[in-house]
Amino acid sequence: MTGRSVAPTNDAHCHFFSSGFFRTLGKKLPDVKGDAADDLPARLGWTAPGSDTSLADAWNTELGKHHVNRSVLIASVSNDESAVAAAVAKYPKRFVGGFMFNPAEPDTDTRIEHAFANPHLRMACLFPAMHGVSLDDPSTDTVFAAAQQHARAVFVHCGLLSIGVRKKLGLPSPFDLRLGDPLAVAAMAAHYPEVPVVIPHFGAGLFREALMAASAAPNIVLDTSSSNGWIKMHANLSLKDVFARALDVVGPGRLLFGTDSSFFPRGWQKGIFTDQQQALDDLGVGDEDQAKIFGGNFDNIFKS
Ligand SMILES: [Zn+2]
Repeated sequence: MTGRSVAPTNDAHCHFFSSGFFRTLGKKLPDVKGDAADDLPARLGWTAPGSDTSLADAWNTELGKHHVNRSVLIASVSNDESAVAAAVAKYPKRFVGGFMFNPAEPDTDTRIEHAFANPHLRMACLFPAMHGVSLDDPSTDTVFAAAQQHARAVFVHCGLLSIGVRKKLGLPSPFDLRLGDPLAVAAMAAHYPEVPVVIPHFGAGLFREALMAASAAPNIVLDTSSSNGWIKMHANLSLKDVFARALDVVGPGRLLFGTDSSFFPRGWQKGIFTDQQQALDDLGVGDEDQAKIFGGNFDNIFKS
């Protein structure tokens, strides 16, 4: 740790676990007592989110405490975008709205149009492995076409998909990991070159493919978020090695810092930030390049 801080820091990957999020998960559990928005957080030892604006207050205070300037907040079940839109409406300088979107549900075109028409919703988050929707499916194309038309971004989760909250609650997760393929993202990104396309967690285990995808499509950026537990699937790979490869292939202009922070009382995951800053310091990455990774690239994609 150098103790030096790179300002401003923006976090491209935080989850907004709203009351609506817990109520949606609660519908899949047989034994919810009362309101799932209270019962499920209690089971997990987490703080109940309360109203969308009070959860926005909590995130605003938390990020301010850690000197995080702006962050993406992701509505983390489909059809919960109004929760995140309310948070962004209250703190438009602090938050950028992202939302999980399931292209397999009916009326893809009207739903995505409605979401992107809201200035507070700037990134659709696709989880092909969870929703069982191929990136080649016309419904995915509809999302990208709408993003291009409205100048929005698309996030596509690839690789390993393990969702802690689902596991802890005992929810089944019958995901088809074959559908989260960075090379399929590259094919789509090439058709929509103006759409910023975010592949989180360096491809979450499909690191080489994520680098190939980013090489093929200049509008692909890699987010650095989470503890990057996928690294253990590779022999002798460290976070420092991951940054070295990524910097070599895509450069500092296409890496987007994120933590994958999600619930209270844990709050913002400062340890992720310090680990990543340490890895970059160890590589001798200078302040200017670190400033891009930790903040500048975010501001370029999500202009305030
Ligand atoms: Zn996440």
